[in-house]
Amino acid sequence: MAGRKNETSTSRKRRAPPAGIPSVIVYAAQCGECFKWRVIPTQEEFEDMRSRFIEDPFFCNKKADVCCDDPADIDYDDSRIWAIDKPNLPATPAGFQRKLVLRRDCSKMDAYYVSPTGTKMRSSTQIAPYLEANPQCEGLSVSDFAFTSPKVMEDTIPGKIERKGSSSANKRR
Ligand SMILES: [Zn+2]
Repeated sequence: MAGRKNETSTSRKRRAPPAGIPSVIVYAAQCGECFKWRVIPTQEEFEDMRSRFIEDPFFCNKKADVCCDDPADIDYDDSRIWAIDKPNLPATPAGFQRKLVLRRDCSKMDAYYVSPTGTKMRSSTQIAPYLEANPQCEGLSVSDFAFTSPKVMEDTIPGKIERKGSSSANKRR
């Protein structure tokens, strides 16, 4: 498989969002064959794929009625902020929600989980006591949760690229 230069080809992308709001707008994966980006419709689907991405990389034909000859769904550019995930992060356990928030300065994303009972957990040190206190979570372990956040791609952050006199640099709708 020569030419797969991106060590991780799963990605999340987002437009400059208000701070504090989970900010993933579109999920996408890059084809290991043609390197085009394909939109992945749901977080569940995205996480499922991401959880075994190394053994089972993404190719265009995994999407129904799509092949490598079709134009890319989206392009990697600065019309939105891109953040690239590490491969093989665990899929979010059933009943939990995993959220990612982009910091206001766009430097980083922060990952947190919300439990089925609404408890917000921002690190694995908060996960362990929660699992202990909640016997219905039997079978889950700290390793089912990952606080590894995707890497924000600096070259896609609006404003990092100086566009003097253009207020439309921020293409917000
Ligand atoms: Zn392809």
